[in-house]
Parts: sequence; structure tokens; C-alpha cells
Amino acid sequence: MISVSNLKKSFGDLVVLDGITETIEKGEKVVVIGPSGSGKSTFLRCLNLLEQPTSGVIEFEGRDITHAKGRELNSVRMKMGMVFQHFNLFPHLTIRRNITIAPVKNKIMTQAQADKRADELLAMVGLSDKADAYPAQLSGGQKQRIAIARTLAMNPDVILFDEPTSALDPEMVGEVLSVMQTLAQEGLTMLVVTHEMGFARAVASEVVFMDQGVICEHGDPKDVLGAPKTERLKAFLASML
Ligand code: ADP
Ligand code: MG
Repeated sequence: MISVSNLKKSFGDLVVLDGITETIEKGEKVVVIGPSGSGKSTFLRCLNLLEQPTSGVIEFEGRDITHAKGRELNSVRMKMGMVFQHFNLFPHLTIRRNITIAPVKNKIMTQAQADKRADELLAMVGLSDKADAYPAQLSGGQKQRIAIARTLAMNPDVILFDEPTSALDPEMVGEVLSVMQTLAQEGLTMLVVTHEMGFARAVASEVVFMDQGVICEHGDPKDVLGAPKTERLKAFLASML
């Protein structure tokens, strides 16, 4: 589904991604771990071209999208959903409108179809009673579940999650992870940056450890988390305890 080869990204003199090569197959759940500043967010943002890569090639569903512009870029963004640490809901819109605005604007659905889909998605994330509320009336965990529903409303082929639970109070982490676990079981292709090692163990088909802009280790979660090879990963995992 996504194939990245030798992806590099610099900001001025600062090399943030120094040659990332990675393939994500349909249905895979790739969990990315690594210390702060290692380039995890930049990697995700390069995949859906929120950042323009400095060099390297990104293929998505068989097409080179590295230099996509205009309609093609828009189509990539629609098929590659993204969930952010800070939710990024529209504060002035109701929850229902937050979920329906993109599919209606992009003419994927009529308002009536989008409203029906919003009802299904709200039920799926356990927030049917919040359709007419505004984001400010929701807890962090509820906001993030809505952000996931909003992303799903576009029927994306893959969702990129950038530390979706890092901004939450501890008691709200579980409700968001549980929605993500359901999506994983339903077969959604997911790329998840997270520090939740329990989630990585339970859900990941592959764990990728990034450090200083490179993939330092990757593979089966049992191996990467259970039998780290490099000192860098051993130190990182020890710091997570
Ligand atoms: P992570 O998500 O692993 O914490 P990031 O990808 O956010 O890491 O950042 C990696 C490095 O890139 C950091 O040093 C950060 O300051 C730098 N960086 C990220 N975005 C920008 C930007 N737009 N301009 C300049 N530097 C940036
Ligand atoms: Mg980050």
C-alpha cells in the first residue's frame, strides 16, 4: 500500500530523516516508537505530503506520489487519513458537522449520506449522545474518539496516528486505544506513532524503532520489544518503564 525508499528530509542544515526505507502492506498495523526528536512526526507528515521530502520516493497504491500536486495531492490526503496528538477539531462546528464537513465538501457523499454515516461512526466510538455538542464540551478522550470518527468518515485506505493518546489524562488513554484496537481487528491499515507498549504488543504486525532520523530496528513486536539488539533500543525501552 505504501512503499518508502531512502526518504530524506532536512530543515535547513538539520537532517531530520536520513534515509528511511519501509513498506506497509494492506491490513498491516505498523507501530513506530522512538525518542522525542527522532523524526517520527516528520516521517508521518512526509507520507501524506504535509512536508515535502528532500529526496527519496514515496509510492502509494502503486503510484509515485512524491511530487503530487493539485488533484492528485488532494486525493492522497483523502485516502491517507491522519489523527493528531491535539485532535484538531473545528471548535466552531458541532460534532456532527466536524464529521460530515469533509466528505460533503469533497463531494464524496451528500449531506444526508454523511449524516447517516456520522450516526454510525458516533455509535462505533460510543458517543452517539454528543452529535450536537461542540468540541469544548468534550473531554480529551472524547475529542480524540471524534477525531478518529471524522477521519473514518472519509473512508481512508490507511490512517496515520501521531501519538494519539499523548495529550490525554491517563484515565482516558484506554478508551481511545480500545477504538483503535477495534479498527485494527476490522482490518484497517494503520501506522501508529505511540509510546503505548501494551498496544504495540497487542496490535502491531511490525514495530519500527526510529532514532536520529533512521530506522534502527524493526520487525515482529516480540523480537523488537522482547529482544532488542542495539544499545539504543535497549536504553529506549528501559526509559519507558
Ligand atoms: P518526533 O516526532 O520523533 O518527536 P519530529 O519529527 O517532530 O520528531 O522532529 C524531529 C526534528 O525535526 C526535531 O529536532 C524538530 O525540532 C525538527 N523539526 C520538525 N519540524 C520542523 C520544522 N518545520 N522546521 C524545523 N525543524 C523541524
Ligand atoms: Mg512527534
